[in-house]
Amino acid sequence: MSVNAPTRSSITITKEDFDQEVTIRGWVQDVRNLGGILFVILRDRYGVLQIAVPKKKVPPELFEALTTIPRESVVCVAGIVKESKQAKMGFEIVPKSMEVLSKAASPLPLGVVDKVGVEVETRFNNRFMDLRKAETRAVFEIKSLVLDLIDESLEKEGFVEVFTPKIVASGAEGGASLFEIKYFDKPAYLAQSPQLYKQILMSTGLDRVYEIGPAFRAEPSDTIRHVSEFISFDGEMAFISSQRDVMDVIERCMIEVIKGVSERGSKQLETIGAQIVVPRSPFPVLTYSDAVDVLISEGRMMKEGDDLGTEDEKALGEVMKSRGSDMYWIIEYSESSKPFYIMEKEGTPFSHSFDLDFAGQEIASGGQREHRYDALTNRMEKKGLDASSFRFYLDAFMYGMPPHGGWGLGVERFVQKMLGLPNIREAILFPRDRNRLAP
Ligand code: ATP
Ligand code: MG
Repeated sequence: MSVNAPTRSSITITKEDFDQEVTIRGWVQDVRNLGGILFVILRDRYGVLQIAVPKKKVPPELFEALTTIPRESVVCVAGIVKESKQAKMGFEIVPKSMEVLSKAASPLPLGVVDKVGVEVETRFNNRFMDLRKAETRAVFEIKSLVLDLIDESLEKEGFVEVFTPKIVASGAEGGASLFEIKYFDKPAYLAQSPQLYKQILMSTGLDRVYEIGPAFRAEPSDTIRHVSEFISFDGEMAFISSQRDVMDVIERCMIEVIKGVSERGSKQLETIGAQIVVPRSPFPVLTYSDAVDVLISEGRMMKEGDDLGTEDEKALGEVMKSRGSDMYWIIEYSESSKPFYIMEKEGTPFSHSFDLDFAGQEIASGGQREHRYDALTNRMEKKGLDASSFRFYLDAFMYGMPPHGGWGLGVERFVQKMLGLPNIREAILFPRDRNRLAP
């Protein structure tokens, strides 16, 4: 037998293979020695297989090798597929030979199948092992599917996928959460969002763009929804009549993505134990004031002007759920609470902005942007920003900039909420936060 023999995965073996020889590769998940017979459970990406090793019918060296192989070692096994009523899959494999491709050390840093609770820190310290659990891995198959579905949805809407720099000279979302880096002999920052660049593109004729890429925020607080590096799904579109045009694109996209996951990701959803509901269009729209009123009537101590904190968002999520909606818009935030690039609602203290909340948590923010040069620089001044460090951005507003709007949506927050995960970190392979820089 050679490692190069064509191998079969656990899911492709069928009745057709009974009494035929197959070669399979994977991790030794478990070894159960019943004396006269040994059962080895072999796992690959798709599932597990049972290898039955009757002591009397296999060479003694092979029996010995399989008895002593440490759990989680990687092996290549060639053997005959035998129908078996007792085996979960309806068959088992009686081995003819085995090659150890990589012997695992023991003890393992954490068990793959043991039901005993493991500390979250231990899991993330040994993520390579944690990801051997089907339910942990399935989250990332779903995340990959989500990204495919976003591409499909936006392509239909005529969007062009773009990539903007992640090493930047100025931030857009406030100085406190910028990571400073050394860029040759100059200070620079890791991009908090593609905001300034996607807006510049609105002046070019590439008038519907989207980007899916990393965003960096030096988040000082430890919460279940903030990390220092996340994947942001950003979009920007020109010649809008109002922010409603932007909201419509996101709404269609969210419905298509969740519907697509429920159809194409059913196996992974089952592995995770997640049940998902496709939201109905149109999503309810609340003004910020409506949201505050709802919360006050729910007995929360707050007043108009207060930020909607984590607990407020959660309480609002409960109310909206009881009204039949997990996804809803919150519009008309005060202009003072929104970034400089958001358009003010003339003659009011409000702004042309929205948040999209999913099951009691903000997952996206967006709105109509200020495209008029003078109004934009006035707003920068009002926010205490130095226009000279935004020159490269402002120039694009001086020579013909159409009205436009857009959004930023946190991919992991979306995945977290859709799958009902307890923490955003569960939707990130190698999360980064104040306390974690490795693995
Ligand atoms: P929050 O108020 O929840 O901290 P934000 O309003 O500061 O979020 P925005 O600047 O509006 O965030 O960013 C757009 C989206 O990016 C958010 O709705 C969220 O989905 C995601 N996002 C922002 N910061 C983080 C973070 N630190 N970790 C993960 N996702 C984030
Ligand atoms: Mg926001």
